Amino acid sequence: MDRIISLTKRRGFIYQTSEIYGGLANGYDYGPLGVELLRNIKELWWKKFVHERNDMVGLDTQIILHPKTWEASGHVGNFADAVVEDTVTHKRYRADHLVEKWIQGKEEFHDVVVEEMTIEELSEFIKKNNIKSPDGNTVSESKKFDLLMKTHLGSLEGEQDTVYLRGETAQGIFTNFKNVLDSTRIKLPFGIGQIGKSFRNEITLGQYIFRTFEFEQGEIEYFFDPEKEDWKQLFKTWQNAMWNFVVQDLGIQEKNLRWRRHTDTERSHYSKDTYDLDYQFPFGWKELWGIAYRTDYDLKQQMKGSSVDLRYTDPYTQKKIIPHVIEPAVGMNRLVFMTLCDSYCEENDRVVLKIKPMLAPYTAAVFPLVSNKQELITYAEKIFNQLSAQYHTYWDDRGNIGKRYRYQDEIGTPLCITVDYESLETHTVTIRDRDTMKQSRIAVKDVVSYIANIIKK
Ligand code: ATP
Repeated sequence: MDRIISLTKRRGFIYQTSEIYGGLANGYDYGPLGVELLRNIKELWWKKFVHERNDMVGLDTQIILHPKTWEASGHVGNFADAVVEDTVTHKRYRADHLVEKWIQGKEEFHDVVVEEMTIEELSEFIKKNNIKSPDGNTVSESKKFDLLMKTHLGSLEGEQDTVYLRGETAQGIFTNFKNVLDSTRIKLPFGIGQIGKSFRNEITLGQYIFRTFEFEQGEIEYFFDPEKEDWKQLFKTWQNAMWNFVVQDLGIQEKNLRWRRHTDTERSHYSKDTYDLDYQFPFGWKELWGIAYRTDYDLKQQMKGSSVDLRYTDPYTQKKIIPHVIEPAVGMNRLVFMTLCDSYCEENDRVVLKIKPMLAPYTAAVFPLVSNKQELITYAEKIFNQLSAQYHTYWDDRGNIGKRYRYQDEIGTPLCITVDYESLETHTVTIRDRDTMKQSRIAVKDVVSYIANIIKK
């Protein structure tokens, strides 16, 4: 993990946010390479789940919605964790995490299901067993801690203009459901996808970009008529689509993936069934992507909250129904983190990121063999200009070729193209493969199709 973090900082994938001010609570910025990887992953998600399907459309809704949205959805009051405070250091901890850690390996507590404990039960358990904070101090009673972030609209502070930064992108989809129905010709079953920032007052942070206050979600609400579709079947189909995206499109190793079903108490208040697609991060198996059957809960709640009829009218029978919904929701940052972890390799004397060629921040790098021969530079520039119109291409004329290769290996560039003296006479270049390190000589006219083939891999 330390080596991955060091590489991402050293090469400009991820920086600590506001570093010159000492950083800000587990916040991170994407550097020149990270932003490319993030964009490539988001674009691929959009292409696969929105563009390549005739039953999906996209949306881009506001971060700040009408505050009644969050009352109706049940987030105000319900979207909370139990927190305790160290009485000496005043550091905060999630009560369930403290209890979980404390009971680990204690045979007599093997039947305690922490996920099923209420805030009061957690408090009682901590007191009775005198559970201490990680620093060895006593802790306060458990208190409810709201995850929704509050802010104010306009210049006046007060109850009336309190609004929330969205805790999930989903509610913007539900509140626009009628707009989408009225403005398109779409019919059930269909889905709406959205990528955008969400915010949560998380208590436990750490683990790099895995859990942050501010993160980017990719959410799909897939609407259907429960009398016409078998939800279990649809659920399975979406699980397969998620798995295939991770394995085939992002190139992640299957051995690092597993499904985990939520227990009855762990499941959110609105869901009838929930699974997590977990990835084996360097710090253990953790949720990458969740899928929940939210029934008609959200549309019903938004109908109640707004008094607007959000029902769907069947175009053939004119029957009105409130559609049910299946929701696959993923953090784009977790997809980036997973991709970095899964592709990081140390081989003999080199570090290499074996990212799928399609996702790599740079698809190819172009090098003139030396930087002091104008004919070589001019020739190489011509190739660079031709390639960069289609692919993100790196230009490097500094230092020896071996060093340039090592640098490109570390940032995951699939191909390095070198222009040498022979190029000027035979109109060929050497092309070096990141994974095999093999070099071949090919005609300049074939470079574009060569890259196109690699990208398909
Ligand atoms: P967790 O159990 O990790 O807190 P969750 O079950 O609360 O996650 P959901 O509400 O299902 O998460 O959100 C959907 C997805 O959004 C998650 O699968 C995860 O990829 C991402 N996500 C949620 N919270 C965060 C966060 N604080 N930072 C980064 N990504 C997040």
